[in-house]
Amino acid sequence: MFKACYSQRYFSVTHTNSMEKLQYVAQVVVEQSLAQLVDPGDIDPAILRTLHDPNYVDAFLQGKKPLAEMSSFKWSEQLRDAVLAIQAGQLKAAKIAFNEGVCANIAQGFHHAVYEYGGGFCTFNGLALVAQQYPDKKIFILDCDQHGGNGTAEFTTRLPNLFNFTIFGLRYGCRDFERSIGRYISRSDGTFAKYEQALYEAFEQILLQKTDLLIYQAGMDCHLADPFGSTWFDSMALYRRDCMVFEFARKHRIPMMFVLAGGYQTLPELVKLHVSTFRAAGQFY
Ligand SMILES: [Zn+2]
Repeated sequence: MFKACYSQRYFSVTHTNSMEKLQYVAQVVVEQSLAQLVDPGDIDPAILRTLHDPNYVDAFLQGKKPLAEMSSFKWSEQLRDAVLAIQAGQLKAAKIAFNEGVCANIAQGFHHAVYEYGGGFCTFNGLALVAQQYPDKKIFILDCDQHGGNGTAEFTTRLPNLFNFTIFGLRYGCRDFERSIGRYISRSDGTFAKYEQALYEAFEQILLQKTDLLIYQAGMDCHLADPFGSTWFDSMALYRRDCMVFEFARKHRIPMMFVLAGGYQTLPELVKLHVSTFRAAGQFY
């Protein structure tokens, strides 16, 4: 059974279920013996001050508005502690993935956070964080959230070992850079075949870049019943997407770490979708 980072400190009350869902996903993952939970411990905030503008990091740590609420979440000590625990989980999961081939962090990658501040329910960019802490390793983000990973895309201009491939139905201001590629698939006129094409393109890039660690953002806000969803993306197609990614990483022996990313349906529906990613991983690990 593979490992997944999680701590009760990840839980925080928000208006979107974003941080609440983590607890329920972790609970079902354990009940169904899909992964073994690992508490990631703490992160030294000094690490975050080198990743983001130190003024922004300090404002968030101290709850100083408006910077502390740039993510659109109301600031609380509970939210702060959850965000810090999740960032510790990003680093722990990366370490385990390097050693054991695979690991999850039952959290978001926070792909909208840019250097200067957070945004779109994202506080600190936990994907860029891994690249910063492993400067000698090539870190490739395959971002399958419904929203473009604009924050990670911008971070590729600051971190030469960070690569980003984002497949989205909503651009969210995401631009291409030398090491960041975006592929838009229409929410109404797209097809899963087009999505698969984009995935194959991403796989090609992952191999071309001689990736040392693949981080997969298994977003569920593309699901057809999600308020941001694509009409043609059903639960089976999402499961198929997840299987394709895990099968590819396993086949090429590329260490892989995955995170949940977005999803905005009611908790029971959403938890089922996120848990299916763990089931897909279990087919190959
Ligand atoms: Zn999203």
